[in-house]
Amino acid sequence: SAGADVEALQHADVAELLPRPAAESDKYRRGVVGVVAGSARYPGAAVLAVAGALRGGAGAVRYVGPAAEAVLARFPETLVHAGPPGKAGRVQSWVIGPGLGDESGALAQVLAADVPVLVDADGLRFLTPEQVRRRTAGTLLTPHAGEAAALLARGRAEVEAARLASVRELAGRYGATVLLKGSTTLVADPDEGVPVRVNPTGTGWLATAGSGDVLSGLTGALLAAGLDPRDAGSTGAYLHGLAGRLAAGRHGEPIVASEVAGALGAAWENVV
Ligand code: AMP
Ligand code: MG
Repeated sequence: SAGADVEALQHADVAELLPRPAAESDKYRRGVVGVVAGSARYPGAAVLAVAGALRGGAGAVRYVGPAAEAVLARFPETLVHAGPPGKAGRVQSWVIGPGLGDESGALAQVLAADVPVLVDADGLRFLTPEQVRRRTAGTLLTPHAGEAAALLARGRAEVEAARLASVRELAGRYGATVLLKGSTTLVADPDEGVPVRVNPTGTGWLATAGSGDVLSGLTGALLAAGLDPRDAGSTGAYLHGLAGRLAAGRHGEPIVASEVAGALGAAWENVV
């Protein structure tokens, strides 16, 4: 409602926002997600981000990075690209950062593309506000509290103590939509007149290694389908939380990230 500082998405809002393939749809209309993630040290982050994108309803996923073998072993449907992201072919959104390590050349190429970009994890380490401000398409940053603290050059505890002010400040500084992960995930637009969205579906069991990588791929798929960064971020967080709860019901409560990705299909079906 007008003037409210925060709002929570309801089940019905998410059902309305979720992109479902029309009878005449094809994989390009559903959206191609480019994923730049993983490293020799963290190949699993690439696998989990790709899993999130595929289970997030992408028509196809292009993977760019050094973990192609691990990704293909788990998801043979992935299109892999050996060169730089600038030459990867048709992509309708980019997800960059999970497990990436020190790679920063790819970040500049991805940011130069005229399609929505989601920057997470290591991708945030090299990002400057100027780089984001000159973009021609939407940008969504998805830090956890520690990453947000690094971007704001203050301590993690300060961010945790002022999550709403912190997410608004970051959105204003970068001129981008910011999704601050954690016990209550918040999604803020740079325009202060737009209410911050609070996600109601989270569970503490989502605080597990690789969980954020699944969220980044999932949310990238929603961007590729045409949702704006605010709707993609809040819908992504909603489905991710629901998938966490469903995975806990299926496997028992200490869930692991690949089970969250595996439950995304059921979460999707749950939102009708
Ligand atoms: P990352 O820190 O990148 O692995 O992401 C962790 C994921 O788990 C994000 O989606 C967070 O929102 C979620 N998460 C972490 N801690 C909690 C919590 N206490 N309650 C609910 N969700 C959480
Ligand atoms: Mg993370």
